[in-house]
Amino acid sequence: MRKDYDLVVVGAGPAGLTAGIYGARSGLETVVLEKGICGGLSNEAPEIENYPGFKKVAGLELAERMKEQAAEFAELKELEAVEKIEQVRGEEGKRRKKVRGEEEKRRKKEEMKVVTEKGSYVAKAVIFCTGTRHRKLGAAREDEFLGRGVSYCATCDGFFFRNKQVAVVGGGDSAVREALHLKKLGCEVTLIHRRDKLRAEPFLQKRLKEAGVPVLWNSVVLEIKGDSRVRSVLRFDKERESEEVVEVEGVFVSVGEEPANELALQLGVELNQSGYVVTDKNQRTNLERVYAAGDLTGGVRQVVVACAEGAVAATSAYNDLLGLGGEGGGK
Ligand code: NAP
Repeated sequence: MRKDYDLVVVGAGPAGLTAGIYGARSGLETVVLEKGICGGLSNEAPEIENYPGFKKVAGLELAERMKEQAAEFAELKELEAVEKIEQVRGEEGKRRKKVRGEEEKRRKKEEMKVVTEKGSYVAKAVIFCTGTRHRKLGAAREDEFLGRGVSYCATCDGFFFRNKQVAVVGGGDSAVREALHLKKLGCEVTLIHRRDKLRAEPFLQKRLKEAGVPVLWNSVVLEIKGDSRVRSVLRFDKERESEEVVEVEGVFVSVGEEPANELALQLGVELNQSGYVVTDKNQRTNLERVYAAGDLTGGVRQVVVACAEGAVAATSAYNDLLGLGGEGGGK
């Protein structure tokens, strides 16, 4: 079954949900398609303390509120993965040319067909909000122990490791947040970081110290060891140039993210060297009526930024569809 929309938003994290709210409220027929559940990676944040208006809120709760609000205006479709997006050209475009007026012909040629596992949508404009996914550590046997001691989400799996020795690998905001969350749950946490300095914001570093979480500096995890479950990690100490087995029952990998850019790439959207979508300040990409917002565009990866970009992208789509031009919002 095929449905026509003004705006199709791909991905329902904070950027996508906000784009849905802004698109639909401006009068565009808007659908937001999400392969999983709404919220994206923000669902995994144990607590968010820098989203204005909320002193402290769990990522899941914030996402739920955004979802409720977006559903008031836009159509939301969870568990509907987009498989392909293409410009409507060739036969389909030509067939329509015969039955519609000149202006309509030109416009239709620029439409995009969004194919999901459940059907297809024709969109006059598309906003990519597909975010990022967890980067793998690259240690030996990491995949083998996935779900058997290796996890990429302390909020999801931490509960199973209460009173146990666990390692968090990484040195950014996420790693420190995960370590603090695990500590609070009652785990014996050690942070393992490849350098002698954390990348995490000073405020979080201070908390880590106060919580008494030990850090193994200059340490590379070479291998995850175990039997049916994780039992230890083999770490390489770069300073001493020696190897050591660290006994742990859980390994929480938190070494950053990679852009989920496959669909954008497939359509011909320009990416930068790191694989993030290149946009102008109004979230327009190199393709007409194609926009990107949120973590997929790189930069400052914070919920508030994703929301702002979603709002700007939807406003630009509205302006472009109505031929209003202009800035389409701004940052
Ligand atoms: P990140 O800032 O990119 O940090 C990734 C960490 O993993 C770095 O410390 C990096 O080490 C380390 N790393 C990368 N590849 C590795 C490898 N192969 N082996 C071992 N270590 C590796 O990622 P993030 O912490 O997930 O944060 C992503 C974004 O979300 C950031 O912009 C962050 O500010 C934001 N965020 C904010 C909050 C918050 O509370 N405000 C919470 C979560 C995330 P090096 O330091 O040596 O490069």
